Amino acid sequence: MKDFVSLKAKEIQPSATLSVNKKARQLQQQGIEVINLSVGEPDFDTPEEIKLAAEQSLKEGFTKYTDSSGILELREAICEKLYRENSLAYLPDEIVVSNGAKHSLFNLMMAILNPGDEVVIPAPYWVSYPEMVKLAGGQPVICARNERFTVELNHLRELITPKTKAFILNSPSNPTGVVYTKKELEDLAQLLLSREILCISDEIYEKIIFDGKAAISIASLSSEIKDRCIVVNGFSKTFSMTGWRLGYLAAPRDIAKAVANIQSQTTSNPVSFVQKAALVALKQNEKLYQPMVAEFARRRDYLIKNLPNQVIYPRPDGAFYFFLSLGKIPSEQLATRLLEKYQIAVVPGKDFGADHFIRISFATSLDNLEKACQRLQAAVADY
Ligand code: PMP
Ligand code: GLU
Repeated sequence: MKDFVSLKAKEIQPSATLSVNKKARQLQQQGIEVINLSVGEPDFDTPEEIKLAAEQSLKEGFTKYTDSSGILELREAICEKLYRENSLAYLPDEIVVSNGAKHSLFNLMMAILNPGDEVVIPAPYWVSYPEMVKLAGGQPVICARNERFTVELNHLRELITPKTKAFILNSPSNPTGVVYTKKELEDLAQLLLSREILCISDEIYEKIIFDGKAAISIASLSSEIKDRCIVVNGFSKTFSMTGWRLGYLAAPRDIAKAVANIQSQTTSNPVSFVQKAALVALKQNEKLYQPMVAEFARRRDYLIKNLPNQVIYPRPDGAFYFFLSLGKIPSEQLATRLLEKYQIAVVPGKDFGADHFIRISFATSLDNLEKACQRLQAAVADY
């Protein structure tokens, strides 16, 4: 039988986070009491105010194509947000709104990469980065971490070649929850500037941050680095809107224009009435996400107190993950055992470029976390 699948498609791994989630849901549907600590999505309903805005917009017939980069009103509101909260001055034609931050990132890779261009990704990384780079014809280059689980700059320096086009920064990080300090960002910015490398700053977990800390956008450090940055953000995490699919990027005008052209020829505009709902999200802002973030902080603190003493992890100051090591057990073997014997669904660290770790998400109830800690305790005693 003739093989019709492209070489490009064959190279791509399915998203591990989404696959484990699917498997856990299937087991739950069979009546097995699986504690699902796999997928990273807030377990809260989207705030009522946002839903009402979408409903209202539907009733008013806002159901047609919009400007393919997103309605001007929303791009203006995003500019205001970036200025107010991140000290970043952008104009609406430097913003492209897409169907989720994942889509923004993929459009971006298509817009900046020539065949063989290299993108440096520090491990552990979010599962989709290397695959997106490959799909766009680029070459992912994995960089080591330091003891803080931020990028090891000496290794980054060694990896840079004339083909290096971009570096991907994700702070707060998926899968570790680690937040880069200002000094770490300054040192990174200096290196990237000196070697003329773009910085893709994925700031999707920006608001999910604890202990009164704030995530700094690397683009806000100087106008020189801002000119080399593409800031990516979205509504999925902050406003618990994963299923609505809305994200955006802010970029120097030539890159934003290239992204806008790609989007106009592929998916066109993000969903019309979702854009109207996003306007309300940005307007009401903190009031909508603060209660959720406070609950995440409680759960993070609970896990710090109750995870088995034998497990080690970098302390998560943001996002809703722990990246745990239980010793030298290969992560896929461990994840399979945890699911089959203890009914806990976790994502193997291998998929994040760090075997010997597993990622757990605490976007689930305290009740579930309590049970998960008991089961992990039993699992650890078994090894
Ligand atoms: N970046 C990171 C680091 C993520 O964890 C996610 C999770 N989905 C995304 C981007 C994309 O989010 P979305 O497409 O839902 O906006
Ligand atoms: N980003 C989330 C996660 O890492 C959602 C799933 C996905 O898009 O990968 O679990």
